[in-house]
Amino acid sequence: MQPFAYSEPTTLAKATGAAAANADSRYLAGGQSLIAAMKLGLSAPAELVDLARLPELRGIKVEGNGAALTVGAMTPHAEVAASMEVGARIAALAALAGGIGDRQVRNRGTLGGSLANDDPAADYPAAVLGLAATVNTNKRQIAADDFFKGLFETALAPGELIMSVTFPVPKKAAYRKFRNPASRFALVGVFVAQTAQGPRVAVTGAGSRGVFRVKSMEQALARDWSAKALESILVPASELQSDLHASAEYRAHLVGVLAQRAVAEA
Ligand SMILES: Cc1cc2nc3c(=O)[nH]c(=O)nc-3n(C[C@H](O)[C@H](O)[C@H](O)COP(=O)(O)OP(=O)(O)OC[C@H]3O[C@@H](n4cnc5c(N)ncnc54)[C@H](O)[C@@H]3O)c2cc1C
Repeated sequence: MQPFAYSEPTTLAKATGAAAANADSRYLAGGQSLIAAMKLGLSAPAELVDLARLPELRGIKVEGNGAALTVGAMTPHAEVAASMEVGARIAALAALAGGIGDRQVRNRGTLGGSLANDDPAADYPAAVLGLAATVNTNKRQIAADDFFKGLFETALAPGELIMSVTFPVPKKAAYRKFRNPASRFALVGVFVAQTAQGPRVAVTGAGSRGVFRVKSMEQALARDWSAKALESILVPASELQSDLHASAEYRAHLVGVLAQRAVAEA
């Protein structure tokens, strides 16, 4: 690992100021991806700006008389999984958080870190896109449809800090994933939701450019919200990734199966 400077600011202004002052700095959340990348030499920031002492980045708030939930960027997965507010309003989100990695990862890993990292097999991007959530940064609000830009690539500008994510409460929702038995990342994960704007279907783990929506499934569900409505819809394997874990054809099959199961569960 390369040597690096470390700061632990106690105000947001100091955190964003430190990041702005050093183009080679990185925010540190739970370190679940970043520290591993640094150990492997894949990332060599000159400075880590630790977000641990910023209480305004943590916690879960019910907004608009229960119409939405706002989850702080530094909220660990375990807290989302155990939250009564999340369980009562978006049970699929609590279940998704509870299915991330193992106990240690869930206690250290954070919502903001997961989204900023944008691993193509991560679970949260499917919920953020499937629920049409809004990513709130220190500079702006970014709609989920505009946030994910490709593999490990987001709309965040250098130094831009994710503060929280606002999830509208759906009429119904469910998440199903076929997990890699070693890492528990999604080989394929499908989040389905009946939202105020209609059905949404978001797929993680499968796309060659990261998380994506399946508009053909959304249109079918708008006509008939049932697992049967999805039976004949195929996601083309040519748009999916193949790797040592699974072929694109197998992933395409899983998208269909998991989408149907998620709709049935929702
Ligand atoms: C063994 C293992 C298994 C895992 N299994 C799963 C799984 O099944 N499903 C899944 O979804 N994930 C899984 N993960 C990933 C994990 O859930 C973390 O969410 C992810 O690694 C990000 O970690 P972190 O929150 O600690 O962020 P860090 O590693 O600290 O940061 C990651 C990146 O995000 C940036 N960043 C962090 N916070 C912010 C912020 N607020 N604003 C802007 N940028 C920010 C950092 O600068 C860095 O570039 C796994 C990880 C491990 C190690």
